[in-house]
Amino acid sequence: MTVMAWFKKERKPRPSVRERLEIPPDAWEKCEQCGHVDIREKFEQALNVCPECGSHRRFSAEEYIELLTDAGTWREMYADLASADPLGFENYPARLANAVKKVGSSDAIFSGSARLERLPIHLGVMNFAFMGGSMGSVVGEKIARLARRSAEKRIPMILVSTSGGARMQEGVFSLMQMAKTSAAIAQMYQASVPYISILTNPTTGGVSASFAMQGDVILAEPGAVIGFAGARVIKQTIGQDLPEGFQSAEFLLEKGQIDDVVPRASLRETVARLLRHMRGQRALEEPAE
Ligand SMILES: [Zn+2]
Repeated sequence: MTVMAWFKKERKPRPSVRERLEIPPDAWEKCEQCGHVDIREKFEQALNVCPECGSHRRFSAEEYIELLTDAGTWREMYADLASADPLGFENYPARLANAVKKVGSSDAIFSGSARLERLPIHLGVMNFAFMGGSMGSVVGEKIARLARRSAEKRIPMILVSTSGGARMQEGVFSLMQMAKTSAAIAQMYQASVPYISILTNPTTGGVSASFAMQGDVILAEPGAVIGFAGARVIKQTIGQDLPEGFQSAEFLLEKGQIDDVVPRASLRETVARLLRHMRGQRALEEPAE
């Protein structure tokens, strides 16, 4: 190489003013539902709901916790519970370890206590990022403990569900969680302590067949898929076409399976209003104390 080559600067063409003012490509976000493209901030401000078509896109467990609690009041409980490998299922311990590392939570649910518009609550939020929100013994145990504690302390429980169903790798132990959570929630019912269930996209399998459908009030986000078996499996089994909108939140509302479909933007306010109402306070007023 000649000495001159060191001094020769490779000239890059200067971008035009218009190009320089353009927003970098990674700041854009596209709605998968309607194709609407907007700057990411717009989606974030709308709680990841499409500003154009209202499609409710994925919202993380951490974001739901922030949405449904007063700032600084969240205290996680039972965070150290971790799954065993009761069946010696191939690769399960490795998959678990991987999920813990990737997602940063010990299993597919966060449980804890907090305040919502100053009212004490117990809150459980399922985490779809952790093995598809699958329900194994840890998810079941955390919900059962939270429900029993709710009954004992007389603190309402709110669960935000999202799940692909039972965790295959724990076999029948996963299925037993349906009975365990149901029994604990029955204790809340006997103690007259409210339980509000919030169904988000998707809530399927064993979760939809147990605690998710046992709320004193059951709310769902718009467009959420809620059902036990997948639509294709049902169609094949019964050999019939399924009605339009089958297994959507709106369809379930129409059929009386759930109490309301609530947009994410009014979820916090709706839950707080329900809690006040169930405490015998005026639903639209701030608590007296
Ligand atoms: Zn859209």
